Amino acid sequence: MAVLVVKLGTSTLVDPAGELRHEVLDARVRDLVRARRQGHHPVLVSSGAIACGLGRLGIRRRPSALGDLQAASAVGQGVLFQRYAEAFAPHGVVPAQVLLTSSDLASRSTYLNARTTLQRLLELGTVPVINENDTTATDELTFGDNDVLAAQVALLLGARWLLLLTDREGLYTTGADGPELLGDVPAGTAPDQIPLADMAGSGSGRGGIASKIASASMATGGGVTTVIASGTADGVVPAVASGHHVGTRFGPAPRPEAAFKLWLRHAKPVLGRVVVDGGAARALRERGTSLLAVGVLAAEGAFLAGDAVEVVAQGDGSVVGKGISSMPAAEVRMVAGLKTEAVRERVPGAAPQVIHRDQFVLADPRHADGGRSGHGLMEAS
Ligand code: GLU
Repeated sequence: MAVLVVKLGTSTLVDPAGELRHEVLDARVRDLVRARRQGHHPVLVSSGAIACGLGRLGIRRRPSALGDLQAASAVGQGVLFQRYAEAFAPHGVVPAQVLLTSSDLASRSTYLNARTTLQRLLELGTVPVINENDTTATDELTFGDNDVLAAQVALLLGARWLLLLTDREGLYTTGADGPELLGDVPAGTAPDQIPLADMAGSGSGRGGIASKIASASMATGGGVTTVIASGTADGVVPAVASGHHVGTRFGPAPRPEAAFKLWLRHAKPVLGRVVVDGGAARALRERGTSLLAVGVLAAEGAFLAGDAVEVVAQGDGSVVGKGISSMPAAEVRMVAGLKTEAVRERVPGAAPQVIHRDQFVLADPRHADGGRSGHGLMEAS
């Protein structure tokens, strides 16, 4: 059975006065139930907690202080989930609330634990309703927004589809007579190669679109077909699940990265930098080798063994990739430039390489900022 991750944004679900759009929520729940009857496993990523909480608290203007937004989310999340439970009940379906922070996915053990729980919830026949746990997310540790969270969940579950539902039919390109819906984005298209029409003033900020494209790029890299489509049109979810073409579809990578490497690329935070010489940069890029101490010039930051670091080429300063260091920063500095034997003499018991090839991913321009632009708590998308 295929997993289908559907993301619903705040502007689709909540009106400007902070009231839930009940008819939209009920209609999307009906769609999810239909997809489930088709034999799929729908998972919902729903925003709207902050806007809903502000409405409940009678706060008309969106505050800018993080604490206020977090408090509003705590109020709104309960209201939102209760409403989902009511909407699923007549269909005999039980929803399950799951609140995640990016730190839950940053550590391999909690990442795997989240996966096990979600899989169990699907086996039990529930529909997980996921949101970021806004009350504990911090500026440094946030998904960026729920498009990124939805892409992370799609990768975590090895989903077949990711549907980013929004207030537009999809992405638009410039046609002879004005903006035209862009039907297909082939696998491997870099985000900046997508010929977007200038939609300024359309009511949907470019920031939101950039984040959707970055999320689509993340998910397709893991083999997840991603669709950007309307959150208010009926039947989009079951149509996509039946293989019909709706909105803008991003083709999945033909050879997706393995689950561990996807986690390393997208979920594990970078805690330092290792600068390498030209020879090491070439060996990593062209031959897929491990990084040995002899090619290391410097280590920056206070990372520990097991932390992820960015590997940077000396000279042009380009990012070669990201890997898990098998040594703490101080030890990397001690062994930098040494051949393997000298490393052993200097640090008995040191790992045979600074980064093992199985724990390294090459930088890919499509994943340049990992979709971490913007701050989800500050935007309503
Ligand atoms: N977690 C936020 C909320 O529920 C939304 C974040 C987003 O929309 O990206 O209000």
